[in-house]
Amino acid sequence: MNPNRQPTAEQLCQWDRRYYWHAFTQMAEYEPLVFDRAEGCVLVDIHGRRFIDGVSSLWCNLHGHRHPAIDAAVRGQLQRVAHVTSLGASNPTTIMLAKRLVEITPPGLEHVFFSDDGATAVEVALKMAFQYWRQRPEPRPEKSLFVALEQAYHGDTLGAVSVGGVERFHAMFGPLLFRTLRVPAPDTYRTPPGVPSERLLEHHLRQMETVLAEHHQQIAAVILEPLVQAAAGMIMHPPGYLRGVRELTRRYDVLLIADEVAVGFGRTGKMFACQHESVTPDLLCLAKGITGGYLPLAATLATEEIYNAFLGHYAESKTFFHGHTYGGNPLAAAAALACLDVFEQEKTLEQLPAKIARLQEHLERLSRLPHVGDARQCGLIGAVELVRDKQTKEPFAWEEKRGIRVCAAAMSRGVWLRPLGNVIVIMPPLAISLEQLDQIAEAVEYGISQQFGN
Ligand SMILES: *Cc1c(COP(=O)(O)O)cnc(C)c1O
Repeated sequence: MNPNRQPTAEQLCQWDRRYYWHAFTQMAEYEPLVFDRAEGCVLVDIHGRRFIDGVSSLWCNLHGHRHPAIDAAVRGQLQRVAHVTSLGASNPTTIMLAKRLVEITPPGLEHVFFSDDGATAVEVALKMAFQYWRQRPEPRPEKSLFVALEQAYHGDTLGAVSVGGVERFHAMFGPLLFRTLRVPAPDTYRTPPGVPSERLLEHHLRQMETVLAEHHQQIAAVILEPLVQAAAGMIMHPPGYLRGVRELTRRYDVLLIADEVAVGFGRTGKMFACQHESVTPDLLCLAKGITGGYLPLAATLATEEIYNAFLGHYAESKTFFHGHTYGGNPLAAAAALACLDVFEQEKTLEQLPAKIARLQEHLERLSRLPHVGDARQCGLIGAVELVRDKQTKEPFAWEEKRGIRVCAAAMSRGVWLRPLGNVIVIMPPLAISLEQLDQIAEAVEYGISQQFGN
């Protein structure tokens, strides 16, 4: 290629602002951040600046960027075929991945429906749950409502937004949404007034039970993010909540949809968050980490009972009439299979406890800083919540952009982070080294001290 035809860094920034409309970004204030390449857990921008990828490129990278085994798997697949439709057709790579996912997910999940993003994995689960009640052997079509947690985030398509509950993102679209029953999020930091922490679990399970007891005849499913409500600001549930909700949904004959789009694939210290509480949901949504952060792919896993309700002669119209053009794409499936191989070869899960312990040390130190209300952790997910008042937990107004400012300062220390409002998220690739974890924590501490001058 003619080197003179390569755009300059300045041109790229200009064109980025002018042509490229970015997700969750106020374009009027957007400052171009243009990553050109990566090495392991480090991203390099077009100016040659290096940043540790402290949020796994939005919670999806696991084994680092440009991992030789995953790169090779994608290249290998390119030599066979880049895309085959999942509509009435298949390919060896995606078949292998379906089998592998059934083997590693909680027992009882037997069938895999592929799509291409977390939101679509959720849409699929919602529609499957709805259709299941209409065509199972004893149909109960009146079971058509969903129960979701307050501040839930399940993606940005309208079905996912209907069961979502992050006011700032979702309130605007209220008129477009279907009705959902809401249950307060069991938040271990912002506990309800008058509820001591040792009674938090019981309190929230009772709230769930109240809704199920009253409406179970109309409820198709409960959907939740197991253990951690990620986009809500890494809200962490008390241990036992997931298991308790699983027991309640069985008692009231309601399906359970577990959205492990953010917490799946090792983030919590185990392969899947449901495994911490020996729970098998009826439907399991996976995306983000499934390809190690390489390519768009998502999966919705279902039990035999749900799958069977969709079987019949063509004319019975029990078919799941739903599909996404690139669902189960072989290149993405090749990356996903290689990603699972790397888990085994590099003993990724076995390496995690040391990293989790190191993160814990850092969070304990950060929690003592003024204006840090809480520094919470689940596996290799860390969250540092900035508050105006540590005693009352009074938050900063989101317009003050406290989180954004801390992360901007952290960038000057070579660490890229993206906050959730007042919550600084530390969610590096699982392959992060202890030294890099130290650098991330140091950059966060620096960012906070720059903000508050302590
Ligand atoms: C990110 C996320 C989604 C949406 O996934 P996309 O791939 O962005 O559509 C759904 N659920 C949870 C829990 C998520 O964190």
